[in-house]
Amino acid sequence: MNTEQKLQQYKDWVFRLSAYNMALAIIGIDKLTVAPAGGSEYRDKRTAFLAGELFTLETDPEIIEILKELKDDKSIDEDDKRAITLYYQNAMKTMCIPKDEFVEARELMNRSYDAWLEAKTKNDYTIFEPYLKKVIEIQKKFYGYRNCDKPLYDQMLDDFEPGMNQEKYDAFFDALKERLVPLIQKVVQAKQIDDSFLYQSYPVEEQKKFMDEILAYLHFDKDWGYQNETEHPFTSWTCENDCRTTTKYLKNNVASAILSTIHEVGHATYEHDVDERYDGMILSEGISSGMHESQSRLCENYLGRTKAFWDYNFPILQKHFPEQLNDVSTEQFVEAINVSRPSLVRTEADELTYPMHILIRYEIEKGLFNGTISTEGLDQTWNAMYKKYLGVDVTDASNGILQDVHWSDGSFGYFPTYALGSAFSAQFMHQMRKELDVDEALQHNRFDLCVAWLKEHIHKYGCRYDADDIMQIATGEPFNVNYYIEYLEDKYNKLYHL
Ligand code: ZN
Repeated sequence: MNTEQKLQQYKDWVFRLSAYNMALAIIGIDKLTVAPAGGSEYRDKRTAFLAGELFTLETDPEIIEILKELKDDKSIDEDDKRAITLYYQNAMKTMCIPKDEFVEARELMNRSYDAWLEAKTKNDYTIFEPYLKKVIEIQKKFYGYRNCDKPLYDQMLDDFEPGMNQEKYDAFFDALKERLVPLIQKVVQAKQIDDSFLYQSYPVEEQKKFMDEILAYLHFDKDWGYQNETEHPFTSWTCENDCRTTTKYLKNNVASAILSTIHEVGHATYEHDVDERYDGMILSEGISSGMHESQSRLCENYLGRTKAFWDYNFPILQKHFPEQLNDVSTEQFVEAINVSRPSLVRTEADELTYPMHILIRYEIEKGLFNGTISTEGLDQTWNAMYKKYLGVDVTDASNGILQDVHWSDGSFGYFPTYALGSAFSAQFMHQMRKELDVDEALQHNRFDLCVAWLKEHIHKYGCRYDADDIMQIATGEPFNVNYYIEYLEDKYNKLYHL
């Protein structure tokens, strides 16, 4: 077979992969949004079958051989070379695991999820503990198959954020600890901001009408995007012109659905804006979990929580809720949606305390894989860390160690990317503000100008380059945690008059 023929076979294979991925994505979105529960057993069996077919396709030995040859073929173009290398690396990670063990592990993860849910409902960590232990053992075994000489936890961190390891994360979190823990304590002691008006009764039907206006402001266009409702908001997509987001409305909290919508639209816009040449192939995905999260958080926090954003949007919100908001000024509203208050639940945390929730999970994961922390009594370890870093007492396991789903399916190494993503956003934002009058754009219904900047400097590349390279391309320097820390210090010192 000559290079031309190999490339053709590779492209056919990519197309078939994209067809399976599209089907599985739609089934997944459907399951989490509108599918009737009665059909779940029927659907789940067929979904598992399709996932198995995809596994077989992804690990097809004939294709793997072609990938292996093509990735070192000097005659192919750089885009193809990058894509082929990524496909090959992914296949190597999956292929080293015996298929029967892989399937067995998937079943264990399903049972582990059920145990987690039961434990959370009954507020009893001991129900989940044996499963957590097994999931950790399986992960240790699977990562062991890779025969890589890096520490296991480093390999996990690298899977979610290529290039990251414990040494780099330690330095990152140490810097956050040193500067943010004292700031959090100062904010706790400062005069508190009244945000009670956010928690009046806000009829959901009216919230939805306002949401249509916000979606238009965000340029979340019906030609390529669609918003639904779920218990836990998420974003999923089949291709760049079919991106789905979800939100969750709370009657007694007017800001929750709006901010979560801005967040998810940030994810969706990233996918929509990738260079169309990459559609349907691996290069169309965001580079890493941290980079994806940086785009959603940039929209939610660095744009969506600013005064300029609400200079335009608050009068509209007031029109929908005159009774609740007519006596509130834009300044008061913006202060209220930026209140910082140490709390138990990560997903409800404010920008300042959020990274501490992540730090706690990082330290626990590190301990679990380095053998210094055990799953037995882990709830107590958790509670002690919440006291140490956030000064809060965990009253029950449901709002403590059992709050997140991530560990039930073995996603270790994922959490740290949430904090890293927030820090990436700060550096991107710093650069965007140098090149664009962001406040002027937000005040005049030109959110699209911010999106255009993100597209030009970040989104269009998809995963053509690593996160380090994108940071360099977009900001002209390597990642620097100080932008994040200085942003938080500046913002909260002003907000609380410290
Ligand atoms: Zn997100």
